[in-house]
Amino acid sequence: MSRVMADCRRFESESDCTLTIIGEEAEVVMTAAQHAEAVHGHQNTPELQQQIRDMLEPESGYVQGERQPEPFPG
Ligand SMILES: [Zn+2]
Repeated sequence: MSRVMADCRRFESESDCTLTIIGEEAEVVMTAAQHAEAVHGHQNTPELQQQIRDMLEPESGYVQGERQPEPFPG
């Protein structure tokens, strides 16, 4: 199993969150959903978890330090 990444630095956010979560997909989706609820004020719903799943990147996309944020899709 390859590991995947959910990177809060990827998108601009009000809290300027710098958290990066890397692990197996199920771990990352669960942890990122809990984080999104605790820190970003989202509701931890199946829809949110699907959104997170759609935004996952391969672990190899990790960059150290600062990352240039992208506009949020949609
Ligand atoms: Zn965050």
